[in-house]
Amino acid sequence: MREALVDVGAIARNVEALRNGENAMVIVKANGYGHGAVESARAALEGGASWLGVVDLDEALELRNAGITAPVLAWIHDPATDFAEAVSRDIDLGVNYVGQLEQIAASEGRANVQVKLDTGLGRNGVPEGEWQAFFARAAAMEADGSIRVRGLFSHLSSAGSAVDQQHLARFSSAIEQARAAGLDPEHIHLTATGGTLQLPAGHFTMVRIGIGAYGLTPFEQGETVPVPLTPAMQVSASVVNVKRVAAGAGLSYGHTYVAERDTTVALVPLGYFDGMPRHASNAAPVSINGETYRVSGRIAMDQFIVDVGDASVAVGDRAIVFGDPADGVPTANDWAAAADTINYEIVTRIGPRVVRRYER
Ligand SMILES: *Cc1c(COP(=O)(O)O)cnc(C)c1O
Repeated sequence: MREALVDVGAIARNVEALRNGENAMVIVKANGYGHGAVESARAALEGGASWLGVVDLDEALELRNAGITAPVLAWIHDPATDFAEAVSRDIDLGVNYVGQLEQIAASEGRANVQVKLDTGLGRNGVPEGEWQAFFARAAAMEADGSIRVRGLFSHLSSAGSAVDQQHLARFSSAIEQARAAGLDPEHIHLTATGGTLQLPAGHFTMVRIGIGAYGLTPFEQGETVPVPLTPAMQVSASVVNVKRVAAGAGLSYGHTYVAERDTTVALVPLGYFDGMPRHASNAAPVSINGETYRVSGRIAMDQFIVDVGDASVAVGDRAIVFGDPADGVPTANDWAAAADTINYEIVTRIGPRVVRRYER
């Protein structure tokens, strides 16, 4: 009834277009941005990705347990993480501070690490003032065989802005300092989707592609992208009730919507638990039988209502919440705009009650 139809062929093509012949790590964290981690990972590999990126060891193990053997990097670690398991399952560890490096080096086996550098995002990663000492310690550990430093990476704070140049200069200085300390990282990566499209000087040995793989971009709506991207997810549900209501009838909680005339209303069984933001009440578009309407009244936990006027809509008709605009349906960007958020939040929050179905 509730369905997120994921076009894995679109993911493969998006990856292929975005990496444009370069090495790419495709990010499948957060259940593949809501699209399904394993299926998205397989599609990304089909599109030529050479690495997969996830947040933590649990997400990495989900890929390994599904039989995916491609290189995987995970970069946020609870202090209770069993780093020996990462080593035994061949998962690279992003390392963010010296205590974490010590913990990883002390665990069983020789871990492959990639050093996360804070070049100005101010989030995770080793801060600039500690780079030299960190690299020296890492080089000593590499010499004693407890780790191998396979990579250096960082993340931009606002790709496409003047701030990129500061990140780039700091990152380049980090690379020099690492080499001066005796490290020889083979993977050097900085850009996510935004920087991959807008900062060619930041590509180094690999680009990291997240939202773009799923056919969306981090840019403001309307901004054109130099590569063709196809949104991979279409969310829909069957209309479960249709009724005529009289002019003046209030709809849903708080009666924030009042029918202006006698009209037909359709009930769609998707609510905020399913990822339809309540903030999009009375604003977000919905397509039914090829016509686009608006959510009418408040979005509730399990359902929302659509005033379809005098259109003939029946129980069982499909209400498409968002998908590929080439199909004439609303987009995740439209929903993001209606809820004053970003498309990332729209696709990642599609709830567990919405059944993922895969097609190509
Ligand atoms: C999520 C994430 C990405 C992907 O970002 P997009 O904007 O979705 O392409 C890349 N790198 C890191 C470190 C991330 O956390």
